[in-house]
Amino acid sequence: MTLRIEQFPVLNDNYGYLVRDEATGKVACIDTPDADAIAAALDRLGWSLDLILNTHWHPDHAGGNAALQARYGAVIYGPPEVTKIAPLDHPVGAGDTVDLGETRFTVMDVGGHTLQHIAYHDAADAVAFVGDSIFTLGCGRMFEGDPVQMWGGLSRIAALPDQTKLYCAHEYTASNARFALSVDDSPALKARAEAIFAARERGEWTVPTTVGEEKATNPFLRAPKLAERLGLAGQPDPEVFLAVRRAKDNFKG
Ligand code: ZN
Ligand code: FE
Repeated sequence: MTLRIEQFPVLNDNYGYLVRDEATGKVACIDTPDADAIAAALDRLGWSLDLILNTHWHPDHAGGNAALQARYGAVIYGPPEVTKIAPLDHPVGAGDTVDLGETRFTVMDVGGHTLQHIAYHDAADAVAFVGDSIFTLGCGRMFEGDPVQMWGGLSRIAALPDQTKLYCAHEYTASNARFALSVDDSPALKARAEAIFAARERGEWTVPTTVGEEKATNPFLRAPKLAERLGLAGQPDPEVFLAVRRAKDNFKG
């Protein structure tokens, strides 16, 4: 099983993803931030579109469903919440599987940014498409869920094998790194932040990241280790996570 992944910037700071199961030639897009940009990428690659896999209902993730389905007849999978704004053929949730040719995605519940946010994990290729649940050195804003739910989702991502590549939906990393340095001074974070600032200066992407890199440096995954520094020693992990999330919401820099 081999999954070919095509990544391209769309809108202000989103990434679009087209994936092709090399054994069968079946193609899916992960979320539909911009139907025209995705169609242009399909044209450039000479691909059609079989499946649309939505991570959550936000317009920069499901807004292109209708146009892409009309153009290609693609079948749409996603959490039930997608129907708030877009067509959906197959509602899926935790533990469900979605097959793209010979590639199998297992659906993970990573709710919190939205209540039904899901991720798509392809264990054979060690990749996961995580939408706005986790970002390189960051995580999504907690718009709908509570800290227990969101911490649960982040913990499930952290429990994947270290080499798993995480394909996040936004390039927010430079600002995430500035915030991370304000709450954590680990040598691993400092070194990574330097590398990230340099990469962004060169216009390079900092997505995908890996589970191992995020466990070592992401201040949200590291919340339990930052508890003492934040004056929250002994507090439950979701409460410490919430404190880091609130600090980021209020961070100016
Ligand atoms: Zn979102
Ligand atoms: Fe988004």
